[in-house]
Amino acid sequence: MRIKDKVALITGGGRGIGREIAIFFAREGANIAICDVDKESLAKTKQEIDSLGRDCLSFCVDVTVYIQIEEMANKILDKLGKIDILVNNAGITRDNLILRMTEEDWDKVIAVNLKGVFNCTKAISKLMIKQRSGKIINIASIIGLIGNIGQANYSASKAGIIGLTKTTAKELASRNINVNAIAPGFIATDMTDKLSAEVKEKMSAQIPLNRFGKPVDVAHLCLFLASEESDYITGQTIVIDGGMTMH
Ligand code: NDP
Repeated sequence: MRIKDKVALITGGGRGIGREIAIFFAREGANIAICDVDKESLAKTKQEIDSLGRDCLSFCVDVTVYIQIEEMANKILDKLGKIDILVNNAGITRDNLILRMTEEDWDKVIAVNLKGVFNCTKAISKLMIKQRSGKIINIASIIGLIGNIGQANYSASKAGIIGLTKTTAKELASRNINVNAIAPGFIATDMTDKLSAEVKEKMSAQIPLNRFGKPVDVAHLCLFLASEESDYITGQTIVIDGGMTMH
């Protein structure tokens, strides 16, 4: 078990990649806190983790609301005693060409994807600073590195996460806190399920490994960044995309 008895908070942990990371971390011995805006998926994921014999707290919390995160952090401290690992995973898309993109869709994506990471990092790093240790993992995207037609809001939010990762890595390094980002390519979840079969085929053709990734592929990398095996890595953005982008 690579993170035995650590406490991990995963945002957007009800579904998709966040759910997979939460379950994967529990299998590796961690106690888990998950937050999400969807009560039903939260309850299902909590049930799965409970059945693995680890503690699991679940919170219906919106990452755009700072006060909700602070309250959640206090409850986690109360029940589990600490927070060793924060995975900023919650994210949404509201795609459209820039000429048609509404201000509301711009604001919403920036609020969840970027301000959400700011909010959680601010609230949880305060605790990690006192503990003198911590691992923060931000889920960015290759779209934040290469851009994508129809995703001005999403690509700006994910590029923002990459900058935020570097700055917080520098600010928190002296307190033994590592901050890294993961930039996935196309991963098979509800988010990518919305794409048409034609787009999916086109995308797969651009991936040397010739398939969409699985949430568990991201969870493996996330586990590495959460474990002591990555203690000398900070401020990095690690791409996991089947070779789709090579720099
Ligand atoms: P999903 O849509 O499957 O899951 C995202 C989860 O976040 C959902 O449970 C969602 O709740 C929750 N969420 C949404 N808004 C909030 C909020 N304000 N506060 C708390 N939770 C919230 O997405 P994925 O699993 O595919 O994506 C996870 C992360 O990975 C995202 O940051 C995404 O941008 C990133 N990513 C995904 C890729 C992919 O190909 N799938 C590629 C690159 C990056 P609800 O169920 O209510 O929507």
